Amino acid sequence: MRAQGVLRETIAARDASDAELLRVHTPPYLELVERETSAAQTPRYLSTGDAVVDARSLAAARRAAGGAVAAMEAAVEENASVFALIRPPGHHAEPDRGMGFCLFNNIAVAARAFLASHGGRVLVVDFDYHHGNGTQAVAGDGLSYVGTHAAPAYPGTGGGEPNETQRGSDVIANVPLPVGGIATERFVSIWDALLPRIAAQVRPDLILVSAGFDYVAGDPVGDLGIGVEAASALGERIAAVAAEYCKNRVVYVLEGGYDLDALTESIARIAAASDASR
Ligand SMILES: [Zn+2]
Repeated sequence: MRAQGVLRETIAARDASDAELLRVHTPPYLELVERETSAAQTPRYLSTGDAVVDARSLAAARRAAGGAVAAMEAAVEENASVFALIRPPGHHAEPDRGMGFCLFNNIAVAARAFLASHGGRVLVVDFDYHHGNGTQAVAGDGLSYVGTHAAPAYPGTGGGEPNETQRGSDVIANVPLPVGGIATERFVSIWDALLPRIAAQVRPDLILVSAGFDYVAGDPVGDLGIGVEAASALGERIAAVAAEYCKNRVVYVLEGGYDLDALTESIARIAAASDASR
């Protein structure tokens, strides 16, 4: 990305504080992560799920969650799109359960940080191959969630048919996609219809995007047969909705995407689409 000129302006990440993490996670879970990672002199699975950790994992996960918060603060300050290039990912992490490579739910931590300081409503847009079970679990209290996901596939949540529910005045909307794959145009057209409709219901003050690119054809973990060009369309649609409702404020938070070339190309396309809308 640096070679392609995508990283023109960079912002330093920082560590998330306990208080920021505890807006999403429970105190016993934070203690569990601290205890199990510090004891892991060799890589092992976290006891709550399929996330491999070692003694460095807590520092990495704290920095990732704090990076999402720093990106949120910059997006709000500058009324712009900011992309948090962080790992480990977060959208599978539930309040008391790390799983699916995720320790802390980075996007939820950023969303709660925004709501704590600004109030209002946020919309999480999740186009990762996998359902964001952790984010959906903490929806409500100002946080709405809309996503596409492969079904049936890991982690098994999100439903096998399109579904939409209210949690208080917030919305949870899921559109499952066939694991056998879907045409790029069809994927884009689903989001063309879905995003404006849900945004009109939520009227968000901030959009946060669980930006996972494991839907791209050839991804070794996901793969819905979708072309990298889909990221341009997604970026344009998200920018248009952000211009309408929330002063262009968008926080992209990296989730999955395990083919590095496709990941680089996809993020470059998101950046170009965001630039074009300014
Ligand atoms: Zn994924």
